[in-house]
Amino acid sequence: MSFPHLLAPLDLGFTTLKNRVLMGSMHTGLEEEKGGFEKLAAFYRERAAGGVGLIVTGGISPNLRGRLAPNATQLSFPWQVGRHRIVTDAVHEAGGKICMQILHAGRYGYHPFSLAPSAIKSPITPFKPGAMSNRQVRGTIKDYASSAKLAKKAGYDGVEVMGSEGYLINQFICERTNKRTDDWGGSFEKRIRFPLEIVRAIRAEVGSDFIIIFRLSMIDLVEDGSSWEEVVALAKALETAGVSIINTGIGWHEARVPTIATSVPRAGFAWVTERLKKEVSVPLVATNRINTPEIAEQVLSSGQADMVSMARPFLADPEFVNKAAANQSALINTCIGCNQACLDHTFKMQRATCLVNPRACYETEITFHPTQSPKRIAVMGAGPAGMAFSVYAAGRGHKVVLFEAKTEVGGQFNLARKIPGKEEFNETIRYFNEQMQQTGVELRLNTRLDASVLCAEHFDEVVIASGVVPRALDLPGFDSPKVVTYQQVLNGEVEVGDKVALIGAGGIGFDMAHFLGEKQSTTLDPKRWRAQWGIDESYANRGGLATPVKEATERTIYLLQRKTTPMGKGLGKTTGWIHRAVAKMHGVVQMTGVSYERFDEKGLHIRVGDDAQVLDVDTVVLCAGQESNRVLLSEMEGTGKPVHLIGGVDVAAELDAKRAIRQGAELAMRI
Ligand code: FAD
Ligand code: NAP
Ligand code: SF4
Repeated sequence: MSFPHLLAPLDLGFTTLKNRVLMGSMHTGLEEEKGGFEKLAAFYRERAAGGVGLIVTGGISPNLRGRLAPNATQLSFPWQVGRHRIVTDAVHEAGGKICMQILHAGRYGYHPFSLAPSAIKSPITPFKPGAMSNRQVRGTIKDYASSAKLAKKAGYDGVEVMGSEGYLINQFICERTNKRTDDWGGSFEKRIRFPLEIVRAIRAEVGSDFIIIFRLSMIDLVEDGSSWEEVVALAKALETAGVSIINTGIGWHEARVPTIATSVPRAGFAWVTERLKKEVSVPLVATNRINTPEIAEQVLSSGQADMVSMARPFLADPEFVNKAAANQSALINTCIGCNQACLDHTFKMQRATCLVNPRACYETEITFHPTQSPKRIAVMGAGPAGMAFSVYAAGRGHKVVLFEAKTEVGGQFNLARKIPGKEEFNETIRYFNEQMQQTGVELRLNTRLDASVLCAEHFDEVVIASGVVPRALDLPGFDSPKVVTYQQVLNGEVEVGDKVALIGAGGIGFDMAHFLGEKQSTTLDPKRWRAQWGIDESYANRGGLATPVKEATERTIYLLQRKTTPMGKGLGKTTGWIHRAVAKMHGVVQMTGVSYERFDEKGLHIRVGDDAQVLDVDTVVLCAGQESNRVLLSEMEGTGKPVHLIGGVDVAAELDAKRAIRQGAELAMRI
């Protein structure tokens, strides 16, 4: 067995988990959809069948005031039990175990009825919470217990009490948000009374043969968070109060330190769980940016934790554990930590899914059945769209020949993966390469598909996935060799000077600023990464924060856009702030409302409003969006074959890999 620690059972005394894999809590959005629980059951069933040891559901509120949003789910009444049964039955039929997470949002509630220990508004919600009365505190403890009792009735194997990420319980624990002077605030003992009474009340209600996981904030990453001594003391008290497992929580949602983005080093916070391992004997779960069986095994075999929690990796691949057990980890569709289709959707109140696996949370809607009429299909371009189409269509039984003009597959992902912090994008290319072999896609590298190929060979249909080309700008002096495209820079085809202007501040403009500003990726150097973001391994201060270490930047970089809206406004909801913070770290000069006039030996001539300026730069990099690569479209259409367009060649505007892969999958489902 290649992953002996990962696949070892865990005996909890009254029950045994079949391995050390916990599927972490994720809100999918199905919880609130009409008929969503049936879809949720299909989602969890696939993960249970895929070998997960213990699943934790998305957060369910114990009462009305604790809801994250007005329409969010709660479990407080017997009539709500039935729909949960659909989920627990599905998981048990598939041989899995499942706990329901109880989450009271406290001041993170996105509605005017939210309650918290003290009436202090959070920086990430517009609503100021009310301060709980003593009666409301006691009532909430009871609500937790009765929710857990109903969860047991619904067939769950246990509950997870969400005590981290800055939600209600965390708000009670920390002085930052708890200014009470009664029995629930003030001293540390009084601040932790709320979580301890919740655990005791739940244990009294559910008996001893029911899992209680407590998600403990082990490093708050905010000012006035817990000290390390307080984390340890609370963990010990929770153990005495009767928890079965302690899961790790990293950072409050309002923390200004990335905790799960792709630029966070793999298992970059396992050291926090490891610290606590020496202090308690209850099983501990490590979490955050653990996304391969190899990394998970390393965390477990080095004694950093007893279990590993992975959440998004199970959106990316429900078969993760089974593939690991079969020594097929190369076949795992790896979560790249982009947040684009999961968390970004959740924050926009959309159903979560996955950029690399569009079937996630659409298990009953996106299905690939064997074709009854196999076709021979030519595909132009092995970018994300072409690769996705090819593997899904070949998987259905079509004969797919994939033509790629370049020497490697991946399209623009080969540029994306060169950006510091985007190393994970390599995994998607690896995954599709493996899948192409598994499904029998015939790959022809170094081969342009054109009409002559279609005349020489028989194909029933043609799929064009030729992607995009960088937009060129026709301005005086822009024919200079010092005006280059992002593609030329990332391919290493041109030299970039010390003073650079980037035209265009979309995702690629920000990525280019990072590429030119950071010599070596901190993501691959966890110590440097922690120093850069001010994470203190010695835990000298409350919250585990230290003063960030600034690295010298060798280049002067200007990032320019024509719009007058704030820079980076269109970036991902959960990651845009990280890109903006990194640009600031590198001293990038950001200018909005810019119009471009010309380039000459003095530099780039621009106008900002009425103000004419010359930026003294030696290189201009065009990051001004893309245009569809349609040069061969009419030639293809002229062959008389049915032609389909997917990805960037279809529509270049607002193209991202999420759309490219989904379009490929959807066409493969239909064709
Ligand atoms: P492309 O990736 O452009 O692929 C098209 C392929 O077709 C190419 O390989 C090309 O060589 C081939 N081709 C063209 N003509 C022919 C022909 N005649 N015969 C054979 N082959 C041909 N997206 C995200 O979602 N998240 C990100 O974080 C992200 N970061 C990015 C960072 C950078 C620096 C860049 C450049 C892009 C990034 N993207 C990101 C965008 C993402 O890579 C694209 O949206 C995606 O690659 C588009 O996929 P596609 O398959 O439509 O086209
Ligand atoms: P983009 O987000 O559309 O940005 C293009 C930029 O070019 C904008 O700043 C635009 O701003 C400017 N521009 C457009 N036309 C111009 C013109 N004619 N002259 C001068 N400037 C012009 O596209 P992108 O940055 O190329 O990224 C492509 C896609 O890749 C994006 O849609 C994105 O989803 C994806 N991507 C995502 C990430 C990520 O981290 N999630 C990272 C990289 C890429 P003005 O019009 O205001 O000047
Ligand atoms: Fe992972 Fe991105 Fe998929 Fe979310 S959308 S699960 S971060 S690959």
